[in-house]
Amino acid sequence: MEQTLSIIKPDAVAKGVIGKIMDRFESNGLRIAAAKKMQLSEADAQAFYAVHAERPFFKDLVEFMISGPVVAMVLEGEGAMAKNRDLMGATNPQEAEPGTIRADFADSIDANAVHGSDSVENAKNEIKFFFSDREIV
Ligand code: ATP
Ligand code: MG
Repeated sequence: MEQTLSIIKPDAVAKGVIGKIMDRFESNGLRIAAAKKMQLSEADAQAFYAVHAERPFFKDLVEFMISGPVVAMVLEGEGAMAKNRDLMGATNPQEAEPGTIRADFADSIDANAVHGSDSVENAKNEIKFFFSDREIV
């Protein structure tokens, strides 16, 4: 079964909407195969978002991702990667479709509530970054 990585970002954890976001996944056919709350280090965040290292927003993105704890999850289901991206909505919450996680819980393009893998290939690497095999059940 296809798997993808989701992260509930520090803004959404601080707002107390972990449960509400997890419910979006479970209510829409995505099983939570792994989950953990953790504080990322600066090195963790830099490594995780290394593809964006040359972008002007990289420093702000890393600072934001270490500003408080996150919840990392493995979501599993048919077409899990694309389904998660649909449930998340557009990167900029002002452009996100009504009813999506970002439309409902995010404040800005920086503090945008959730991360989701953007390809099945990237999902495999991102899952390995956060979880060992025995944590995915
Ligand atoms: P994520 O990777 O976090 O799931 P995404 O795939 O929708 O989000 P990316 O293009 O991968 O978007 O960008 C990664 C993150 O960098 C975004 O979630 C956002 O917080 C930030 N970001 C992206 N584009 C911009 C921008 N133009 N200005 C500021 N921040 C941005
Ligand atoms: Mg992305």
